[in-house]
Amino acid sequence: MRPTRLLVTMTALCLALSGGAARRGPAAEGPAGVVAVEPPGWFAGDAHVHRGIGCSRADAKEMLTPAELLEAMQPNRLNVVAVLADMGNGEIRYAEKDLPLISGRDDAASRLGRLLHWDAEWHFDPRGVTFERKAIGGHLILLGLEHGETLFREYTYPVFEWAKRQNAVPGFAELPVEVALGSAAFVMEDVRGSDTAIHAYYRLLNCGFRPGLVASTDYPCNFLEPLGTLLTYVQIPDRQLTYRKWIEGIAQGRTVVSRNGHNEFLDLRVNGTASPGDELRLEGQGTVRVELGWSSVKPLKGRVELVRNGAVVATREGSASPGSPLKLETTLDFAESGWLAARRMSQRGHETHTGAVFVTVGGAPVRSSVADADFFARWIDNLIRQTSPGGAWSEFLSKDRDAALDRYRQARAVYERIAAEARSAKRGGP
Ligand SMILES: [Zn+2]
Repeated sequence: MRPTRLLVTMTALCLALSGGAARRGPAAEGPAGVVAVEPPGWFAGDAHVHRGIGCSRADAKEMLTPAELLEAMQPNRLNVVAVLADMGNGEIRYAEKDLPLISGRDDAASRLGRLLHWDAEWHFDPRGVTFERKAIGGHLILLGLEHGETLFREYTYPVFEWAKRQNAVPGFAELPVEVALGSAAFVMEDVRGSDTAIHAYYRLLNCGFRPGLVASTDYPCNFLEPLGTLLTYVQIPDRQLTYRKWIEGIAQGRTVVSRNGHNEFLDLRVNGTASPGDELRLEGQGTVRVELGWSSVKPLKGRVELVRNGAVVATREGSASPGSPLKLETTLDFAESGWLAARRMSQRGHETHTGAVFVTVGGAPVRSSVADADFFARWIDNLIRQTSPGGAWSEFLSKDRDAALDRYRQARAVYERIAAEARSAKRGGP
């Protein structure tokens, strides 16, 4: 993977974590007549939807109404949809109608177990879109805002700052930069998804970061496939759904993502109770027990895999059908801190993927790959080179260059420190 590819294919989301005005929503309730694939307390949603005119709705005359969006939640039985105003360069029209709807509250059309919520996307794409102003970094998805406006910056950090002033904890675009510096809360795959986002997610986990994992459609830029074709299940421990708890679950890594709608689920448990987003703490080297169940609303054949620190450590082929999940059970020895996740694979890559469960040994951070920390340090080297005077992306930074480069250098120092720690861990300690 060339470093530049990460820049244009990744989306990370900005999450508001505290003090928001989200009102307590209705309790969730599954639709009648459909077998739930997810256990109680998990809620399916699409965190990246537009109702405006653009992409595959470029010829549309009207923006979708809340009632139409609610109807569009039905095919994939979604509990949550984040409808995003375009704060950026106008790929989706008409921002002036969407931005005033951002209030921190669910839309009044929301119903029991069906939450419609207004938030924003910041999108000044350096490549691929023919608009005047462009910025390094591409997409930010801003969830949990209290108001929206159009603002332009040449790099993303000032937008994170703007969101923080609304009690938000922002994230993305120079993704490895803003994950390393604590701004990006999660990694998102969108449109049709691919393993590219997953590989970046693995590398970040191997460096000791814990971003959430999200999949969403970016409707209507997804060739008009239904809302939730890419979806995110979020676990809410008290099982009472609100938008705020749903996005906090994303930030805490309590997710399972799907690329084929609301049809299958992976139930990953470590030592009986730990699930995605949880951390198991071992005093010293020890063994953990892993149980994985793949459930499906219809009979399916396939392969499930258990991934540890980015490598497959157990696999099982078989079939899943309603009431009869395919199970994989194993035990694994942990001599040093690491992480576990599960995925259901098909020929195109992952169909479903869980967020990571963390296993900490002796309180040490995950330092499982020198190569991955080096990869990001070199990736940022390239970002610095390309955005410096004479670089291919130099044109994107005129006013903000010094501040942006300062941010990149800070992040590079973080990855270099992690790489050094991983090297000494490999040698058996400093
Ligand atoms: Zn979008």
